[in-house]
Amino acid sequence: SIKDSHESCIAFYNGKLEEKFIREHRLSSIMRQSLKNHEFIVFYQPKVNIYTNQCVGVEALVRWRRQDGNMIYPSEFIPLFEKNHFIIDLDMYVLEQVCIQINTWIKQGKKPLPVSVNISRVDLKNNDIVKQIVEICDTYQINRSLIELEITESAFLENESIAIERSKELKAEGFLLSIDDFGTGFSSLSLLKDLPMDVLKLDHTFFQTQMNKREKIILTNIIRMAKQLDMTIVSEGIETRQHVAFLKTIGCEIAQGFYYARPNEINQLDLWGNFEGEDVS
Ligand code: C2E
Ligand code: MG
Ligand code: MG
Ligand code: MG
Repeated sequence: SIKDSHESCIAFYNGKLEEKFIREHRLSSIMRQSLKNHEFIVFYQPKVNIYTNQCVGVEALVRWRRQDGNMIYPSEFIPLFEKNHFIIDLDMYVLEQVCIQINTWIKQGKKPLPVSVNISRVDLKNNDIVKQIVEICDTYQINRSLIELEITESAFLENESIAIERSKELKAEGFLLSIDDFGTGFSSLSLLKDLPMDVLKLDHTFFQTQMNKREKIILTNIIRMAKQLDMTIVSEGIETRQHVAFLKTIGCEIAQGFYYARPNEINQLDLWGNFEGEDVS
């Protein structure tokens, strides 16, 4: 009968829900345990001045190294962690590791490099986030102008007013702000108008295909305008000498990409050395 099938449907649905709950609960405890076990490690990727071949800053990029040695990349776990909000803990952990690294440089007598840290759209919705970020940096006595917070352009499309509000608060606390993956969303120009951003990171998709004349004119002028607004332009995903030559024609001096260096563990990188660059084959 209809009633029977309805009831079995509910039973089935509840069973599914319970299973899902258990699965998610198990995942949460795995993540918390992994954080305690230091399975999350911070890699760094240099940003290089294409005229001097010197590193001008680095981006912190997290990896998950499981105890069996398996390395898991952010694209596999960030969406999941954003869903269950574990990303907030993870991002604060990364920020803390970055603060420790900056103090290590200072202790070694090196001039500390600015470090960018990725801030998830989910972090921005958390009422406490500004306080948490400030507290971590204060605990390690880090000069806030060494910390650049990267917020992906699409975060502003989703919850525009909260994201803009939080960005202004973070800026007022003295952090540098960066729009990540610029050019992949649609609100690019209004963002430049409304946001107190210091850095604009051009998305790698700009450099993957040959640009036509119109596209190139638009990009060149966005860069010119952003510079007049006192922003620094950084290009992501630079892989070849042709890419570098193209950056020269559009007026972007800072590049991040496999051409100069892949993200790596800090002790595998000579950040104060010369970055010659080599085509990705
Ligand atoms: P993103 O912030 O745009 O970081 C740049 C990504 O491009 C990195 O991927 C980097 O390894 C990759 N990349 C750099 N140069 C090249 C190149 O020349 N060619 C190619 N094909 N790729 C290049 P990764 O490390 O896998 O991170 C992917 C994304 O995951 C990041 O994109 C960022 O959105 C997110 N992510 C990484 N670490 C964190 C983190 O600690 N917290 C948060 N919330 N998100 C993170
Ligand atoms: Mg980034
Ligand atoms: Mg990016
Ligand atoms: Mg990206």
